[in-house]
Amino acid sequence: MELNEKAEIDTSQVEDVRGSGGGGFGGGGFGGLPIGGGGLSGIIVTVLLLLVGGYFGINNLGGGGGGSSSADNTKLEQECKQQNATEQLDCRNVLYINSIQAYWATELPQAFGKPYEKATTRVFANRVSTGCGAADSGVGPFYCPADNKVYIDLTFYQQLARELGAPGEFAQPYVLAHEYGHHVQDLLGTEAKMRQAQNTNPDQANLESVKLELQADCYAGAWARGATGTTDAKGNKIFTSLSDSDIQEGIQTAGQIGDDTLQQRNGGSVNPAEFTHGTSADRQKWFRVGYDTGDPAKCDTFAPGAVKEGD
Ligand SMILES: [Zn+2]
Repeated sequence: MELNEKAEIDTSQVEDVRGSGGGGFGGGGFGGLPIGGGGLSGIIVTVLLLLVGGYFGINNLGGGGGGSSSADNTKLEQECKQQNATEQLDCRNVLYINSIQAYWATELPQAFGKPYEKATTRVFANRVSTGCGAADSGVGPFYCPADNKVYIDLTFYQQLARELGAPGEFAQPYVLAHEYGHHVQDLLGTEAKMRQAQNTNPDQANLESVKLELQADCYAGAWARGATGTTDAKGNKIFTSLSDSDIQEGIQTAGQIGDDTLQQRNGGSVNPAEFTHGTSADRQKWFRVGYDTGDPAKCDTFAPGAVKEGD
């Protein structure tokens, strides 16, 4: 995977809140979630992750409000204006987001006849307050439908690499593309429909969640297929190359964060009734459906029989 050094890095799609209140362990002041701050062992954090929603969860933390952290992009803008900006983690991630949103700006009207509305990604450290309540890095990256923002602590990638067996660099855009998939579901009303189905049929709530998550994986695959065609505002390509091995890294990542794999990793037995994101095999399968077809309209995980319990 190579990013185009000449591509314009549009930092306006990102809000850097790492410098404000959210940083620093033990700071306190964030109410809402019963999850601890730093100092927790990896195991506890991982268990909490599963409870709160799992990897790449759509987030309904409840509680609403929570105030807002102020964004300051000054450092980010400077960093991403430099010569070798595409070698910097921060700036690479901005470009991934630029590519994902450029893809949907074209694809959403084509595939679904709806205009795309951009969503900002808030890059935070340790903790953040969101329209869905306060959150801790431990929950992993997430999308909040209440404020239409994606939230990520970039140190999550280290956890992916070290603890979850997904060290490939393509894991990063895959994570972001999955979260933007949730934003697309929000724009299309899929997310609201899914919540309704969960309320009507509480015993199917987890299965509905799995369908939503697998569809977000499929959307990530569709973006991956279209990624090399995406450009900045001036028409410069964002990626100069994307290889089969990059795609394999995406598939590998999907395989490391399936519910069955995570349950086993946490020393538990595999319990399909508790799946909320789908098995490793299914996460890989749906990423591939998106990638192979390049058509997000084919990501219909809600079609009768497309996804069954245990998937
Ligand atoms: Zn998700």
